[in-house]
Amino acid sequence: MTDPQVLDVAVIGGGPAGLMAAEALSGAGLSVAVFERMPTLGRKFLMAGRGGLNLTHSEDFERFVGRYGGASERLRPMLQAFTPADLTAWAQGLGQATFVGTSGRVFPKALKASPLLRAWIARLEERGVGLNLRSTWTGWNTAGDLTFDTPDGPRAVRPRATILALGGASWARLGSDGAWAPRLAARGAAVAPFRPANVGFTVAWTEMFRERFAGSPLKNIALSFEGAGSRGDALAAGYGLEGGAVYALSAALRDAIEARGSARLEIDLRPDVSLGQLTARLSRPRGGQSLSSWLRKAAHLSPVEIGLLREAHGVALPVAPDALAAAIKAAPIVLTGAQGLERAISCAGGLSFEALDGLELKAAPGVFVAGEMLDWEAPTGGYLLQACFATGVAAARAAIAKLS
Ligand SMILES: Cc1cc2nc3c(=O)[nH]c(=O)nc-3n(C[C@H](O)[C@H](O)[C@H](O)COP(=O)(O)OP(=O)(O)OC[C@H]3O[C@@H](n4cnc5c(N)ncnc54)[C@H](O)[C@@H]3O)c2cc1C
Repeated sequence: MTDPQVLDVAVIGGGPAGLMAAEALSGAGLSVAVFERMPTLGRKFLMAGRGGLNLTHSEDFERFVGRYGGASERLRPMLQAFTPADLTAWAQGLGQATFVGTSGRVFPKALKASPLLRAWIARLEERGVGLNLRSTWTGWNTAGDLTFDTPDGPRAVRPRATILALGGASWARLGSDGAWAPRLAARGAAVAPFRPANVGFTVAWTEMFRERFAGSPLKNIALSFEGAGSRGDALAAGYGLEGGAVYALSAALRDAIEARGSARLEIDLRPDVSLGQLTARLSRPRGGQSLSSWLRKAAHLSPVEIGLLREAHGVALPVAPDALAAAIKAAPIVLTGAQGLERAISCAGGLSFEALDGLELKAAPGVFVAGEMLDWEAPTGGYLLQACFATGVAAARAAIAKLS
């Protein structure tokens, strides 16, 4: 049975994109109901908060927009209409003051998502937004109504407009499993296959390295791959390498592995010391010290860094100071596979912009789309949430324009 009350907009998906759309819609005086399959809202948002909740980035806007690669120009007007400064002001409006970290990333002072999410949900409830949990969208019935599975049985809803904010396909246990993709494809909307983004990579470590160093941080390193570079920290995981500096290059690394089976990443273990300076340090008399103690003292390498150097160049490292310095500044590590979607922070692929008129589905007029379910990808650094919020606002504004 279709619900009798008149509903202006159904927002399906209670993550950051959907909740932001609901906020903008209710702010415009429309009646709004959110439908979320999980028992609580914003599970992935809360998970993001466990890593510090990097909301956005403070860098120059042109640089910021460039982070979205091939989707930059599609997203530009939406990011201009809801900028990183707007996002910061919005968080502050919910009682969450923010700060800019040394890398330019923007975080709430609380460093977690729960206080922000609580205040946000309270605001939505005050505005009368209906929050329907455990309501799984299953498609449309023959009358064109939205259909949901709920604990009380099937439910049909006929809103004047719909916003889909169903998320991507990473970390499916948090709610977004990409099950919407075949449903929209069946309506003629092009959906690019999901691929892991911001993900770790497999390395064939020796057993010795894995046993000794799995879980060890690699601090302040520089990575380069085919002309692109990143700086920051990584982690030597049992299966390979992960962490922010790796994620920054993960799209290019993933594509190369898909095309060629492997990718050769170069690691500079001492990016703040020039080759000349390092050679000079390693030219001092070594005395009777073992190579490991010498590398620790002269080059300030940690045990995991020395282990990684040996994994990269073989156990017998060069002896000549200049060759040893060069080996430290360019340690090649071969990556042979990307971790799966279940371990990826985000995903590439999703609903093609070609299937849309603005953010409205060409195949289903009156249905708008927002968030990570769209086909864009970006590195970590706050770019993911910023685009989810900005597309949520843009989808809401497009729906408001249509309904008025
Ligand atoms: C470990 C981790 C750390 C992260 N850290 C950061 C960070 O610090 N900064 C950053 O910018 N980004 C971060 N992200 C990414 C960010 O959380 C996501 O990009 C963002 O949550 C996507 O928002 P969304 O609203 O598009 O989708 P989601 O947050 O995935 O929300 C979609 C919602 O739709 C619901 N849904 C799906 N299908 C249905 C259905 N059929 N019926 C009803 N409901 C449905 C899902 O249950 C889900 O709640 C992180 C992600 C992970 C996994």
